[in-house]
Amino acid sequence: MTSSSHISLLQKTAGITLSKPVQVTLYMLLSSLVIWTVLFSTYPAVHDTAHSARHHTLGVACH
Ligand SMILES: [Zn+2]
Repeated sequence: MTSSSHISLLQKTAGITLSKPVQVTLYMLLSSLVIWTVLFSTYPAVHDTAHSARHHTLGVACH
């Protein structure tokens, strides 16, 4: 592989990776993962914080 084709491959990869659909998909997947992890965490401190935040912001009555 020559250096110019290596650069070209990098540019193609960067073009695909930085395209809007990929960015939007990654953003949604990662934020969903973070929200899911926080909301369904069983770690007491995180769970209690997420729980009271849910009650205070969404008015959800779960107990
Ligand atoms: Zn509750």
